[in-house]
Amino acid sequence: MPQSDSSDHSDNHETPDSCGFLSQFGKSEESTEWHSPAPAGYQRGVTKFVVVVGTVMSGLGKGIFASSLAKLIKDKGLSVAPIKMEGYLNIDSGTLNPYRHGEVFVLADGCETDMDLGTYERILGQDLTRKNFVTAGQIYTEVLERERRGGYLGRDVQMIPHVTGVVKMRLRELAMTGNNGKQADVVFVEVGGTAGDYENGFYIEALRELAFEEGPESTCFVALTYILEPSILGEQKSKAAQLGIKRLMEAGIQPHIVACRAKNPVTAKVMEKIAMFSNVPLRRIFSMHDRESVYAIPEAMRAAGLDREILSILNLHDRTNPGKEDVARVEWLDFSRRIFAPKKHHIELGITGKYAALRDAYASIDKAIEHCATQLSCDIRTRWIDTSELTDDTLTAKALEGVQAVIVPGGFGQRGVEGKIRCVKWARTNKVPFLGICLGFQMAVIEFGRNVLGLAGANSTEFEPNCAHPLIAELPDQKKLEGLMGGTMRLGGQDVMLDANSLASFLYGNKTQMTERFRHRYEVEPKYVAKLQESGMRFSGRHPKFPIMQMLELPQSMHPYFVGGQFHPELTSRPLSPNPMFMGLVAAGIASREPEFAATELGRRWVRSAPKPVTA
Ligand code: GLN
Repeated sequence: MPQSDSSDHSDNHETPDSCGFLSQFGKSEESTEWHSPAPAGYQRGVTKFVVVVGTVMSGLGKGIFASSLAKLIKDKGLSVAPIKMEGYLNIDSGTLNPYRHGEVFVLADGCETDMDLGTYERILGQDLTRKNFVTAGQIYTEVLERERRGGYLGRDVQMIPHVTGVVKMRLRELAMTGNNGKQADVVFVEVGGTAGDYENGFYIEALRELAFEEGPESTCFVALTYILEPSILGEQKSKAAQLGIKRLMEAGIQPHIVACRAKNPVTAKVMEKIAMFSNVPLRRIFSMHDRESVYAIPEAMRAAGLDREILSILNLHDRTNPGKEDVARVEWLDFSRRIFAPKKHHIELGITGKYAALRDAYASIDKAIEHCATQLSCDIRTRWIDTSELTDDTLTAKALEGVQAVIVPGGFGQRGVEGKIRCVKWARTNKVPFLGICLGFQMAVIEFGRNVLGLAGANSTEFEPNCAHPLIAELPDQKKLEGLMGGTMRLGGQDVMLDANSLASFLYGNKTQMTERFRHRYEVEPKYVAKLQESGMRFSGRHPKFPIMQMLELPQSMHPYFVGGQFHPELTSRPLSPNPMFMGLVAAGIASREPEFAATELGRRWVRSAPKPVTA
């Protein structure tokens, strides 16, 4: 509910009231309440806004651009709060098909978001919340629900000011709380889609209003555009970019900075044209051409002076901490250098998956593997395996032959499930390092039930509601105990208690408790737990209070590295601190080819040492 606070704003303007209108800002008077809502105590000019809007086309890597820029500013000692504004009417990304939209990323607070939020978390090294993600569906719902409650006091409800008002309110709330509950220095706004789309028009209008109300030096608009280079012409053409930027200007927004995505470095001629047609000084036009890695982008931006221009536009130079920047920069450069350094080790990793053809559906897994490859100096070749074709053990063995590690990732639905179970069996019986994630964890339990306990007809009620042995089942009562609504998924960060002396606690640095992120509906049926454990499967990670199995492993006498999590470890992997379950998997894969690796410093940390021989 927007609230305004007249005491704080009307006579406490930090920036000049150049527009006159602002003397009304924050007044609780009915007529202005919807125009410029702000949380109680909000002060203009404290938090600055950087807005990234795409032009010409989507798919320019706006999320990577915005997160790299936010990282550069954060590294200077400023607190940053990114927000992604989606134009779609879905309330969140939970119902989106990963095959079309990329993976559903789950935040610690359980919000199901676009995969870009994963990019922000990884590049910024910062946990985000539902406040960092907004969809048109959320905004309209808020407005319509308030209308039903009679919250608009008899007036007609309109896009301007009511819908745009909610957008501004969200941005100001984030400004006040986006730094771990405290005020953020800079809010980075990424508008989904491109300028001129119907869907995001109200966001762009709200941002125009925001910039006007916040006053000079408060908001920096960055137009991300694309420079075409048709192969038949063999030269760069700027017209599409000009027209795209014009769409933004037609909406009343004069960009401060133009960033040009392009295959090759953008020529001076093209930059001059863009400067001329967009009223942006040449020093604020940047070539953001393709780099060998996304990790090279922050440094490329810094070298071109993009960060300094942002600081000048927003008058933020005084808030920076150069010492902090040097440390952060060295750390990041070291990481980016190691990505391309020749690797000491090599493994091949098999990943099963329904969406094997589309890597965006597994973006976080892909990244988690990349983080480990860098930290362990291992060249990891991934082999994606379509399990719907694995109709028997021979075909499975053929598909997996030669891999040193296997991941069975999460998923929903029946397709390829039997093939996944065969892959688990192959990894277990051939003692090949294995990591089961969410559905993969459940497959590991079913495989063990069928082939070790001899429970014919063991399955998950997700696939076979009336199976003889529902090892994996939907347990609504248990969810009620946890305070979750029936029918919905268990989502977000949950504590996991780790058994002492387990592989699980070894991986997590001998901790007895950690937190990982979940997104599932089914889980291990508690009545089978004792039987499974008697035969060797160990549930080494559990819910602190309820009988929810959250991690499994096999003892070293049975397997060198067989681990599963009911959660999604890939969601918490970060470039400089990869997830332990992935590190353990890759390290075990390396050790299977090079036993001497276990004795190295990294090996001692990540490869579980062989059990001590029992002396008589
Ligand atoms: N389909 C399974 C469940 O709902 C696994 C979900 C997943 O892998 N994310 O429990």
